Amino acid sequence: MKDEGKVSFGKSLRIRTDDGRLLIYAHLNKFHVKVGGKVKFGDKIAESGTSGHSTGPHLHFQVNINGKPVNPEPTIIEAIKRMAGETKEVISQP
Ligand SMILES: [Zn+2]
Repeated sequence: MKDEGKVSFGKSLRIRTDDGRLLIYAHLNKFHVKVGGKVKFGDKIAESGTSGHSTGPHLHFQVNINGKPVNPEPTIIEAIKRMAGETKEVISQP
């Protein structure tokens, strides 16, 4: 997943966050959003696939800041924390 050009991303989606990060999702199969549309956390935006330079189905997730790839880990951790913070329904009790 190193030094991939735009062409090898296959079907890809780029989403700009309010704080200026560019989130890139590559090797997709199907889109559920359109260019210019607004998305929010938790929306289904696409289906992962194996388009472009890819040897099997997987999600290529990349975060760019000022046009350069950065460590995506803080963005992923932020997403996990937001998911963890959602309220869940109690469905059973011992
Ligand atoms: Zn890739």
